[in-house]
Amino acid sequence: MTSVPNAIAAIESALGEMRALYARLDAELAHYVRPCRADGECCRFGPGKPVLYLTFLEAAMMLASGRDTEPSPDSPNACPYLDGGRCGIREGRALGCRTFFCDSVFEEQRCLIHEKFLREIRTVEAKFQVPHFYRPLAEALREAARLCRS
Ligand code: SF4
Repeated sequence: MTSVPNAIAAIESALGEMRALYARLDAELAHYVRPCRADGECCRFGPGKPVLYLTFLEAAMMLASGRDTEPSPDSPNACPYLDGGRCGIREGRALGCRTFFCDSVFEEQRCLIHEKFLREIRTVEAKFQVPHFYRPLAEALREAARLCRS
């Protein structure tokens, strides 16, 4: 059985690898980035909208920002990290946040990159033997917060 300090060290090491992974992802995506309207529309969820799923490590990266994870009462379906029309945790935003654009130009290329890096995140989770799941945003943040505390 893994001790709590060892489990925390494993998560921290895995997050270090995630930062490097996100840097490679951003470099690979650079050619396919599209203009952003910066109105936060893709960061509001709820009925009839796409769902943002997160792996454990993506959620842990978001939590590492130290920002509050509760959505604003004025906008309960919005991502808690939405700050005005912009992402408040840009460095820690998830894979789907990086690969999704309202504009569908290059969508196919971005989907392929998304799938490739999702597999890589799974590999990092396995390498460091950290928890793994794939859950909708709010549920993923809650569960990751619980796992990172225990
Ligand atoms: S993490 Fe940032 S980009 Fe992703 S849904 Fe939340 S506010 Fe939007």
